[in-house]
Amino acid sequence: MAGLTLKNINKSYANGFHAVKNLDLDIKDKEFVILVGPSGCGKSTSLRMIAGLEEISDGELYIDDKLVNDIEPKDRDIAMVFQNYALYPHMTVFDNMAFGLKLRKMSKDDIKEKVTEAAKILNIEDLLNRKPKELSGGQRQRVALGRAIVREPKVFLMDEPLSNLDAKLRVQMRSELSKLHKRLQTTFIYVTHDQTEAMTMGTRIVVMKDGIVQQVADPQTIYASP
Ligand code: ADP
Ligand code: ADP
Repeated sequence: MAGLTLKNINKSYANGFHAVKNLDLDIKDKEFVILVGPSGCGKSTSLRMIAGLEEISDGELYIDDKLVNDIEPKDRDIAMVFQNYALYPHMTVFDNMAFGLKLRKMSKDDIKEKVTEAAKILNIEDLLNRKPKELSGGQRQRVALGRAIVREPKVFLMDEPLSNLDAKLRVQMRSELSKLHKRLQTTFIYVTHDQTEAMTMGTRIVVMKDGIVQQVADPQTIYASP
């Protein structure tokens, strides 16, 4: 189980730019929260602070009631999936997915079981021996998801994971991600600038503008508001 509490979180970059202002948010366990807003409004910065990839300038971040401001990314039990996949080009799909587990010294048998199971969920079982360059964009994004799934994190962070895909695949992957969320029963936090994407996937939507949260509501309420 993994709920998150963001208490009055702020981010000022080294150049003085105040990218995120007084962010207050309670995210319940197993929620699918979408951060939406125009480019530059502070979505990625917020996500990266949750992941521990960016230092929090001020405020407090709790995961399951534990203050994690100073906890390293690898000890936060969080997985992040990026827009550009970030796969290792010289490794096979299997090894890409296995990489994090090998670092944790998991046994070969257990690694094989976890990777095979995740590949089944994502429908990429036939691709395990290929290299990333032999895959389509959608397949690469599945591998990136697979690499996150095998670690069984408490929280999934996704930063525009579908924006490099063509329109048709994007629509398909949206519904697959909704299914994946139900199946994994974990907390998802998803960043997008695409309003349609926000409306069709999340259980709760956080609208940001200029580093400030404008509105927090379920998709129906947002849709009904002017
Ligand atoms: P979004 O994800 O909503 O597009 P970001 O969180 O990436 O927005 O960026 C928020 C704002 O912070 C933008 O104006 C961006 O230019 C600025 N920003 C991002 N990274 C840095 C940085 N390392 N130094 C200074 N400003 C930055
Ligand atoms: P090493 O880390 O010793 O070089 P590999 O990375 O080649 O070993 O493989 C690690 C384990 O994962 C081995 O047990 C291997 O059988 C298994 N493995 C590698 N590729 C696949 C695959 N495509 N499907 C199933 N199991 C695989």
